[in-house]
Amino acid sequence: MNRRGSTRVKATRKPIVVLAGEDRNDRRSMRVLLEQWCPDMRGRIVEINDKPTLHQASSAVLAARAETLAAKVRARAALEETDVACVFVHEDLDGVDSDQHPAIRERVEKALAASMRSGTAHYVLAVAEIEAWLLLFPEALSAFAPSWSVPAKYRGKDTGRLEDPKKVLKSEVSAGRYRESDAPLILEKAVELRLLSRPAGQNLSYAQFRSSAIECCTHHLPNGHSRFQKRE
Ligand SMILES: [Zn+2]
Repeated sequence: MNRRGSTRVKATRKPIVVLAGEDRNDRRSMRVLLEQWCPDMRGRIVEINDKPTLHQASSAVLAARAETLAAKVRARAALEETDVACVFVHEDLDGVDSDQHPAIRERVEKALAASMRSGTAHYVLAVAEIEAWLLLFPEALSAFAPSWSVPAKYRGKDTGRLEDPKKVLKSEVSAGRYRESDAPLILEKAVELRLLSRPAGQNLSYAQFRSSAIECCTHHLPNGHSRFQKRE
């Protein structure tokens, strides 16, 4: 019932979680996963289109690029009339030897965190594309398109070590039908089928992203935050 004359209280906009990356499908894919692992993030994730190119930058350049990104994040929060709870920055690490990943991740994540007002940030390195993550969920791929099937040789493997997971998906799983815009939909299938916590294989960047999401959910999301509540 519409009670005329009652005070309309604008819904409090909770602090947002910003997802930055250059590829729309990758950002959508990450959003599907984050919202599943951390239901508190539902309705508060906003995306910014940004090509970070952070992992190969020298220290000075890295700090400057992190500042630029932080300024964009703040501008977005100002637009949404709220605060930033945390930030996830996605970058593909094509062609970088996997032994270097932990050190690269730590270095960039520190620079990002230093530039953000919240003092927290997560740097997500999807090694050799998000398709490597999709190969962890053969059942979701078959549920998405019944004719698709992941060959046995890719099951139970470290999909982060595959040379070209996109090519595997296209030529060996989907007979040429896979499109990059399918990725978030396939992950939604994986959510539906409750597969996220039991991947059919390993992938370091997937596992890392999952622990970042859980850390963020537990420690960085302020609940009951009311700083921007309108007083009417
Ligand atoms: Zn966080």
